[in-house]
Amino acid sequence: MRITRITTWAKSLPLTKPYYLSGGRLRFDELDATFVRLDTSDGTVGWGEGTPWGHTYLAAHGPGIRAGIATMASTVLGLDPRKLDVIERAMDLALPGHLYAKAPIDMACWDILGKTTQMPIADLLGGSCGDATNIVSSVSTGTPDQMTTEIDRFRAMGYRAHSVKVGADVELDVERIRAVESHRREGERILYDANRAWTRAEAIRVMNGVRDLDVTFEQPSETLDDIDAVRRQTSAPISIDESLVTYADGIHIARKRSGEIFNIKSNRVGGLTRARRLRDIAIAHGIQMYIMPTGGTVLADAESAHLTQTVPESLRLGCWSCQDMIEEDPAPGRGPRNQYGTIQVDTIPGLGVEPDEAWLGEPVAVYK
Ligand code: MG
Repeated sequence: MRITRITTWAKSLPLTKPYYLSGGRLRFDELDATFVRLDTSDGTVGWGEGTPWGHTYLAAHGPGIRAGIATMASTVLGLDPRKLDVIERAMDLALPGHLYAKAPIDMACWDILGKTTQMPIADLLGGSCGDATNIVSSVSTGTPDQMTTEIDRFRAMGYRAHSVKVGADVELDVERIRAVESHRREGERILYDANRAWTRAEAIRVMNGVRDLDVTFEQPSETLDDIDAVRRQTSAPISIDESLVTYADGIHIARKRSGEIFNIKSNRVGGLTRARRLRDIAIAHGIQMYIMPTGGTVLADAESAHLTQTVPESLRLGCWSCQDMIEEDPAPGRGPRNQYGTIQVDTIPGLGVEPDEAWLGEPVAVYK
């Protein structure tokens, strides 16, 4: 089997409402999504999606995915898509770095491997285990009242886990956290996610300012060195998200105890091929984890849901379903959906969902 054609589409995915991160310093209104279709010599088709969370969240952006695929296409064409590690090395040779540009091709290859073996991706990744996974909501930065109202909106959809966005203003962040904690229901899991916004000193002030509460933080500061420094002067559990990109990052976190939780984003780390290895580093060290897309439609959610479903329940904290936050849907009624706050992949071979090509419209590039 060989890859005979690579087709890409660009789509704008408007958010249902403006979204603010890092204490409001970053605003998002729409996401730039790239969809990839791989055609093969035996007629099997694989689908991938790459949707960074806007252009300002991380060093990843939509047009960069399309440019990266243009650069890698001639190397990927002709390869056997079922040989995931060969594809990975070929992409690394054609374009060092730029992991987010490789992820949608990797996703489409996993889709093809699943279709040709008649297995869902979760089973290819080691086997689906346990019950459906809790979905974590994503609560935009706002006033304490706005944020508790937003939590109520997600609760009405069944959510029992929330990622609450803080950052940028120490006093207000302490106020936000106290307001949300007093609103918290028994059994709810809440992450206070600063998305790198705090300096080391600010992170220490906020985290120690709510030391009397049993709360968990995510990515308080910019780098792993920053988080190590914060870790030494605070005691609340820390989840590491943006600073978890490479295997070396995962090993650093595990060995130096930078944080207690991994948040693995398959688009950021280069796709499922790499994300599963970070999952295994976490499992080997008894580290709990979230697995999430960086954003996107039901395709991106499905990819994350497959990997999440393979994590033993004792280590699985949840995933994210961005589809609830965007206006567009490329596959209405199909693929894994929010089932009152949980998501579960089914037994359809491969990714388990394909976009409607009428919705995609005209491709932006075809390589063959
Ligand atoms: Mg985060």
